[in-house]
Amino acid sequence: MSHVVAIANQKGGVGKTTTSINLGASLVNQGKKTLIVDIDPQGNTTSGLGINKAEVNQCIYDVLINEALMQEVVLHTSMEGLDVIPATIALAGAEIELVNTLSRELRLKRALQKIREEYDYILIDCPPSLGVLTINSLTAADAVLIPIQCEFYALEGLGQLLNTVRIVQKHLNKRLEIEGVLLTMFDGRTNLSVQVMDEVKKYFQQKVYQTVIPRNVRLSEAPSHGKPILSYDARSKGAECYVALAKEVMGNGQ
Ligand code: ADP
Ligand code: MG
Repeated sequence: MSHVVAIANQKGGVGKTTTSINLGASLVNQGKKTLIVDIDPQGNTTSGLGINKAEVNQCIYDVLINEALMQEVVLHTSMEGLDVIPATIALAGAEIELVNTLSRELRLKRALQKIREEYDYILIDCPPSLGVLTINSLTAADAVLIPIQCEFYALEGLGQLLNTVRIVQKHLNKRLEIEGVLLTMFDGRTNLSVQVMDEVKKYFQQKVYQTVIPRNVRLSEAPSHGKPILSYDARSKGAECYVALAKEVMGNGQ
């Protein structure tokens, strides 16, 4: 049975997609079969894994709205052992279409039940909002991984995210845990990065991963080549850090 991790933060640009792709690839590198579910209408994980969205027939939208089976929608990536449930812009309408449907928060959880045995890890790349797509992700997940960008306002909005986690724990998914908090785009040369790191550690304590993801240009280049960092530049600092993160995630007992 796989361990399901939602990668969530309602802020855009904090490293959710970069972490989904590269933690996913690093888990595969460590011998773990992994599925990434792209549930962001922007579909950046999908294209970042080299999939042409124009050629995608069915995506997560069809799973959530039309009850398509995950098995019909899943795609292999160029990395063996790494699969993806793609997202296309079709998903943009889902938030509204789900409003009046029965058990709208449980759609992803139910759909994943049928495919869970096939993977060691399932990572869900959430959109930058706390709407019904993120709620579906938190409801389907065993744990949530929160990336935090080391910049000004880093902690702003975290209260809302944690409140949403608590509401989901209370009403939809009692087992939901905080998997960990990941500092991203860290730049040790700036006082600001160091300050943010101190503040986040004060707040989340042992939940903060020892591994910190530095600002690394190779990480930002890899998606335009449709590859995880391990396939694009395995010797980069970015690759090294995501492999270390994968080991840490695995070491946490899952
Ligand atoms: P989100 O999914 O939270 O919106 P992304 O993962 O797409 O965030 O990251 C936002 C932007 O920052 C992207 O252009 C990405 O390539 C870049 N980026 C993410 N992490 C790093 C990093 N560690 N170093 C350099 N650039 C990064
Ligand atoms: Mg994203």
